[in-house]
Amino acid sequence: MTDSSVGVYVHVPFCERVCPYCDFAVVRAPRLSGADADAYVDAVLCELDERARDFAGLRLASLYLGGGTPSLLRPAAVARIVRAVRSRFAAAGEVETTLELNPGTVERERVPGFRSAGVNRVSVGIQSFQDAVLKRLGRAHRAAEAWATLRALRAAGFENVSIDLIYAAPGQSHAQLLRDLEEARSFGPEHVSIYELTVEPNTPFALAARRGQLRLPDESDAARMFEAVQEVLAGSGYVAYELSSHARPGFESAHNRRYWERRPVLGLGVGAWSSEPATPDAPHGARRANLRALPAYLERIAAGRSAAAGDAEVLGAATARGEAAFLALRTARGLEAAGFEREFGAPPRRFFGPQIAELVAAGLLAEAADGDLRLTARGRILSDTVFERFV
Ligand code: SF4
Repeated sequence: MTDSSVGVYVHVPFCERVCPYCDFAVVRAPRLSGADADAYVDAVLCELDERARDFAGLRLASLYLGGGTPSLLRPAAVARIVRAVRSRFAAAGEVETTLELNPGTVERERVPGFRSAGVNRVSVGIQSFQDAVLKRLGRAHRAAEAWATLRALRAAGFENVSIDLIYAAPGQSHAQLLRDLEEARSFGPEHVSIYELTVEPNTPFALAARRGQLRLPDESDAARMFEAVQEVLAGSGYVAYELSSHARPGFESAHNRRYWERRPVLGLGVGAWSSEPATPDAPHGARRANLRALPAYLERIAAGRSAAAGDAEVLGAATARGEAAFLALRTARGLEAAGFEREFGAPPRRFFGPQIAELVAAGLLAEAADGDLRLTARGRILSDTVFERFV
């Protein structure tokens, strides 16, 4: 799709410790030095200089510092990134500028500094408010630190706070999930992202699962937990604008929406993905990924070369149609047939007729008279089954 705006994502790979379920591009850095952090930021800013040309003329809509743990950077380093990105792209009005923050002591002390650095939205990796669950997840923090961080954010004046939670964690009971939701509600964040724990290949959790040492809620328990999440958060005034994302009206994440709406994103840093704007040669855009290993990334940048892991993948029409369908279906708005037709020349029924008929008959998809499609309540629980029919 054509778009005149860009979101910038900066990946910061450092983590105090690596959680046993994590498969992001991360580097264990229990004592990250200022020099190492600065060297990484220097490299990211070099990459920005090189890559901004491909997104020239686009208006900056969002900046997201994710990881990893970007809150391990000092506020001055965060400020350098924010200033550099803003100087590269024009913006109309205030730009949503998000920093992912883990609830450690060091990070908590930096909260006021992050605000002065230009961060106006914080996404806090709470995961659970219960020590037993946090321990089983292998997290570095405990519930008391989570609460201290949340209080520090409000004291520093942050008015747009998102919290990340995990459900269907090892050994987590339904009652424990309800307690997590109740604690979240009692804080009253503007946004909640809540994901089912997935066991990714080649992680310590995958190994433990193979050995029968990981006790996870089964599929029907996980489905009941998903339903409880929807019910409790909806009852507390949050709108589930995407399968895992719940916001008070007006606090939906502008940056995350870009991915579901397939808008351009410039990804910088280790392992970052970019969605490049459409061009006459790539009418559905292109995407590319950076190298995932920190030393290789730093070497490439130091040598004045591209950090890309390979050539950009130009999206063919069939791939783009499938992605347009399942990404839009993640959202409450769903897949709008008219917008789809503008990009692909015909409505979704033309390309996915049998799949749509089958999913509607199964009660997983709702089709409006104008051809717009949305997941039903049951479709939201079985969303993976729906999405695989479009790829
Ligand atoms: S803190 Fe987040 S990014 Fe870092 S290892 Fe844990 S899950 Fe991965």
